[in-house]
Amino acid sequence: VEPDPQAGAAVKAADRAHVFHSWSAQGLIDPLAVAGAEGSYFWDYDGNRYLDFTSGLVYTNIGYQHPRVVAAIQEQAAKLTTFAPAFAIDVRSEAARLIAERTPGDLNKIFFTNGGAEAVENAVRMARLHTGRHKVLSAFRSYHGATSTAINLTGDPRRWASDTGSAGVVRFWAPFLYRSPFYAETEQQECERALQHLEDTIAFEGPATIAAIVLETVPGTAGIMVPPPGYLAGVRAICDRYGIVFVLDEVMAGFGRTGKWFAAEHFDVVPDLMTFAKGVNSGYVPLGGVAISEEIAATFATRPYPGGLTYSGHPLACAAAVATIQVMEDEKVVEHAARIGETVLGPGLRELAERHPSVGEVRGMGAFWALDLVRNKETREPLVPYNASGEANAPMAAFGAAAKKHGLWPFINMNRTHAVPACNVSEAEAKEGLAALDAALSVADEHTV
Ligand code: PLP
Repeated sequence: VEPDPQAGAAVKAADRAHVFHSWSAQGLIDPLAVAGAEGSYFWDYDGNRYLDFTSGLVYTNIGYQHPRVVAAIQEQAAKLTTFAPAFAIDVRSEAARLIAERTPGDLNKIFFTNGGAEAVENAVRMARLHTGRHKVLSAFRSYHGATSTAINLTGDPRRWASDTGSAGVVRFWAPFLYRSPFYAETEQQECERALQHLEDTIAFEGPATIAAIVLETVPGTAGIMVPPPGYLAGVRAICDRYGIVFVLDEVMAGFGRTGKWFAAEHFDVVPDLMTFAKGVNSGYVPLGGVAISEEIAATFATRPYPGGLTYSGHPLACAAAVATIQVMEDEKVVEHAARIGETVLGPGLRELAERHPSVGEVRGMGAFWALDLVRNKETREPLVPYNASGEANAPMAAFGAAAKKHGLWPFINMNRTHAVPACNVSEAEAKEGLAALDAALSVADEHTV
């Protein structure tokens, strides 16, 4: 593609004049003007191409512009672009069927939303109505979305400004051995103590007041902490003991990201409600939803469900989901994600950790990896302080700039970089990404002590 800096400047100028960006001080940002994208890459107007190790916001699981999904959206647009949610529409029925067939256990009914936060909002609403209880427990080190309930469930600084002390949300600590809140030394200890802490929290909050426990199966933005064996099964047992609805948020971990259709499969657990979005159609058209157990669906068999959205099950979004799931089956994208994690990303990142003093820990599975960057491997002091900005964040900013200089667009959150490419990233692309990370980590190393 021919560079066209003038066109890029016009795009940028209109953006700066009129687009109000998420999570940003509007006067302090400098968004890159993007001219196009394909597969694992995108490019700007100045002739720079980047390998996208972020998958957008961890959602382009089949990469950009997959021709079969683009064609399916075009065909659906020509046939029936939109239709209201109260009607039975072929492509909506088909998307629901394909999703329900892949979700674990008896999660057989699908409520469609436009994205992840709305899925979480509705899962909580369902749990509250199903149990007749109000409180909801969620974990520190989590992200569940930016709408009212979802942001209150979120256990990271993005909640702080919106925290109205709201609506019966109680937070607890989930297991994370590398930065254990439980003084544990082994995964097994971490698991046992985290489960005891959860059970104690429930006892002191009052079991009969708690509608739901909401957990990311593998927490994503908060650091890709793969839970220790037995933890999620333990949470399932606690939920069963107290009649609490178990909600797994698979908005980020679902649809192949961990090398299974859903991360819950790794841990042999079936939640009562499971939220999804992102990878369901690689974000080509906004779509999310809640997969609902038979028992909870039965609550609303003769009693109306008091929730809905104008665009619930939008035909364009559903057509993109049907095509995406078919592509993932035909091209064995889920199996590929598992294999690239086991054979290229996992070993490659661990090898970087051995050579770079700034890499404290490597965690992950499939196409879902985090590098926990540190000032010192012994003390595990994070490379930048929690929620750092400005000068205090300079080491991570320098790391990010170095990655971009080497053609890699990195995912950065606090002291971590995540390697979260498309789930169909090729071996050569994954290795190209590892080489760029290698170079950028040398910059991070300069800030170790
Ligand atoms: N839940 C999880 C685990 C997420 O990672 C996200 C987004 O990153 C959300 C919910 C919110 O999704 P959305 O931004 O589509 O509302």
